[in-house]
Amino acid sequence: MADFKLTYATMFNPPEELHTRFEKALIQVKASLGKDHGMIINGRDVLTRDKFEDHSPVNTDWVLGIFQKGGEKEAREALAAARKAFPMWSGMKWQGRVALLRKAADLIDKRLFEIGAAMALEVGKNRMESLGDVAETADLIRYACYQMEKNDGFIVEMGKDPLVGYTARNISVMRPYGVWLVISPFNFPFALTGGPAGATMVAGNTVVMKPATDTPWVVRMLAECFREAGIPDGVFNYVTGPGSILGQALIESPEVDGITFTGSYDVGMNIYRDFAQGKWVRPIILELGGKNPAIVSRNADLERAAIGIMRSAFGLQGQKCSACSRVYIEEKVYDKLVARLVELTDKLVVGDPTDRNVYMGPVINKKSYDDYKAFVKELGKAGHILTGGKVLADGDLAKGYFCAPTLVTDVPHNHRLWKHEMFLPITTIAKVKSLDEAMGYANDVNYGLTAGFYGSEKETEWFFENIQAGVTYANRPQGATTGAWPGFQPFGGWKGSGATGKNAGGNYYLQLYLREQIHTLVK
Ligand code: NDP
Repeated sequence: MADFKLTYATMFNPPEELHTRFEKALIQVKASLGKDHGMIINGRDVLTRDKFEDHSPVNTDWVLGIFQKGGEKEAREALAAARKAFPMWSGMKWQGRVALLRKAADLIDKRLFEIGAAMALEVGKNRMESLGDVAETADLIRYACYQMEKNDGFIVEMGKDPLVGYTARNISVMRPYGVWLVISPFNFPFALTGGPAGATMVAGNTVVMKPATDTPWVVRMLAECFREAGIPDGVFNYVTGPGSILGQALIESPEVDGITFTGSYDVGMNIYRDFAQGKWVRPIILELGGKNPAIVSRNADLERAAIGIMRSAFGLQGQKCSACSRVYIEEKVYDKLVARLVELTDKLVVGDPTDRNVYMGPVINKKSYDDYKAFVKELGKAGHILTGGKVLADGDLAKGYFCAPTLVTDVPHNHRLWKHEMFLPITTIAKVKSLDEAMGYANDVNYGLTAGFYGSEKETEWFFENIQAGVTYANRPQGATTGAWPGFQPFGGWKGSGATGKNAGGNYYLQLYLREQIHTLVK
């Protein structure tokens, strides 16, 4: 395995060892289900009287763990712990913080297979995607460390002003804000917690983090990695409970100095508005939804296009912010590409995501399962379902939330579901007369996260120039719109998909967690 680097683009053909180690870890993880897991506040496990059960979407009879239903009290305690730890953590030399975070990244690597197995059971991701989420987290943390080092702690000697009789020294430094709140979604629970938390801790902020109610288990494992790495008590606090109660209490607290929220547009925009009620403007990083298009030209390599679109439409059951949910194809190649797409989609194996041959596991919960049924009904009336369109509940699938991958065509362009993020394995396809027409549709949504294109090299320049999205790919069989990896494809959205215009795992991200201070000393 020494010369194999796992990324979302290399995961399709992994060495055998990845499979055997995953399978071994899965046996151990399955033997440890159902435990009571505390929150971690100020380094200590905290239990509450009210609890909730974490069920697997693969089989809802499987109780993965029991978790604490935290509320306002726990929000206050976690924020107080983070506040108390801030002077020590921010006062530490940045090299010390980097060393501790690197240690945490190494511990994540060490627990890769165990956490990956838990992820498959908790989120329903297939095994390679699960391992990817964990491995990506270690790389995101390392990237933040690398940025700190590359910028030498962001200490910049500025010019000396031309004073007569005095000497001035001007230095620009970057300093942390204080207590940072991280709220993450269910679909990449590890990376979208560890990435922002790692970056903000490298910068010197302390953290209160709340995972999605569907995925507290793997995030607890992340909290353990931070604790075991020796990150001091109170620097990273992990609290669990409903977003509407615990999350809202955290958002409304004046003790929060900055937020990174990754989740849906509606929840994110409400948080943005609520957070603006403070005494001054505080930083908020929002990473929101997507409605990601792929455009296919008559000059495209259709085999690449078909594979790339299929992978991005149905990886993680279409529940990626970057999922390819819209496809616009030039009419000359429409029939051929659609036939191939249907053929590839029909070959996808849906089932227990821990099985080696399964590409698609279940959707996350009953609400998503019911949404799927409602959407396919609506789309069946508005257009024509090419394949899929039904839930799968026979045999082993009866106790999980399994849905068939679905391709739909002939849906009128003014239909609401062309613009609504369904977040399910449903992709709508349209025939277009020209690439300009396709670009018009592609950009005519509130979102601007990722986009894909297949065509000639000259056309790709036009695509990059005109598409409104933060992460764009051309002629990529590994995924039309998905599969970004830190350091290679920094990830973030434009328009309603993201607030800062600076992508995670890239050149300008770490600075979002720092504020500038100028030190002028006149001698
Ligand atoms: P949600 O918006 O439903 O939830 C995200 C998080 O917000 C959860 O932890 C949730 O907690 C919490 N939350 C809910 N209400 C509140 C509140 N009032 N105050 C504070 N926190 C709250 O998203 P999902 O978990 O369903 O994730 C899917 C969404 O995330 C999709 O829209 C997807 O596109 C987006 N996403 C964006 C990414 C990006 O990088 N741009 C990456 C990945 C996903 P609880 O679960 O307890 O309700």
